[in-house]
This record gives sequence, C-alpha cells and structure tokens, in this order.
Amino acid sequence: MEKRGAPVEMNFGEGYKPNQGNTPASSVFERVLPNALTAKSNELFALARKSSLWTLSFGLACCAIEMMSAHMSHHDLDRFGIVTWPSPRQADVMIVAGTVVKKMADPIKLLYEQMPDPKWVIAMGSCATNGGPYYKSYSVVMGVDHLIPVDVYVPGCPPRPEALMHGILQLQEKITKDAQQRGTAS
Ligand code: SF4
Repeated sequence: MEKRGAPVEMNFGEGYKPNQGNTPASSVFERVLPNALTAKSNELFALARKSSLWTLSFGLACCAIEMMSAHMSHHDLDRFGIVTWPSPRQADVMIVAGTVVKKMADPIKLLYEQMPDPKWVIAMGSCATNGGPYYKSYSVVMGVDHLIPVDVYVPGCPPRPEALMHGILQLQEKITKDAQQRGTAS
C-alpha cells in the first residue's frame, strides 16, 4: 500500500491519466519532510490566542448578569476555550458589561493597563457602547471607547448571552485576520 503523503517519483508527463486529471508532481520539500505542515508564526500564535481567550471577571451593571449567564452551563463558553479569570495580570479580553459611570473611568483604565499585550476589549450593551439609556447623563461616560480602545461592540439593552457569544466569535475572526494582514504587510 502506498504511504499517504509519500512523494511520487515519475518522469515528465507520466502523471496524466485520461479523465482523472493530473497527479501533482513531487516536490523537494515533500521528499525532505514528508507529512510536514507549514504555517506562518503570526498565524499559529493567533490560532493559539483566539482558542484560549481568558476574559477578565469584571462587570459594571445589568449587562454583567447576561455575561455571567454566558459563562454558565447553559451557554458554556468553556467549549470555545474561554475562561473567566479574576485577575488582569493573565487576562486577554476585557468585556465591559454595563454602564460606565465617571467614577469608574480610572479603575477601568487601570485594569486595562494591567492586562498584558496582546489584549482586546468588547463593549457589551448600549451603555458601554454609547451611554445607552443614560445618553448625555451628567454621571455616565458616553461609551467606554472614550477611555480605552474597543475591538468589538455588542448591541442591545441588555444583549442576550447569544449576542455576546457572537461578539466573541467576531473577535476570534478579527484576531485571525489581523495576524494574516500583519503577515502580508511585512
Ligand atoms: S445596556 Fe441596558 S442592560 Fe446593559 S447596563 Fe445599560 S441599562 Fe443595563
């Protein structure tokens, strides 16, 4: 039996079989390293990062209840490799879930700065996106992107856990695409 992935030695033109297409010619790479996969390091790191996102355990208001629900057994974010983590020191993602009052602005910035790079932010709900029902209130920040950079916005008041899960999938896609773009830019 022919070994899978083993190089096929043939003379020029031998690989053609009528109505079956061409057999790809053997390459030097296959002869030296049979069955090896190649990938760009950027994309490999991105694959590892997007598959093990640790979210900072951090909630501000009613949206945080939906975020907690997304982590519980019914929705089970663990199956995406997403684990909630009680320290910014090892967290990759900050989910800003709730109303960002001005008193919380400095603690939010501090927590963000304590997270190691690379790090990402999801603004969950209309309060974190643009102030929501408290738009132009004297005590509320009109969107957490006035304090820290945001990667994904999840609309709703409150968004359901499924909406947050969709936002996380969008973030995973963004991490992959950013790595691919870095690869082509260099
Ligand atoms: S968006 Fe709605 S549910 Fe979420 S924190 Fe604001 S008021 Fe509460």
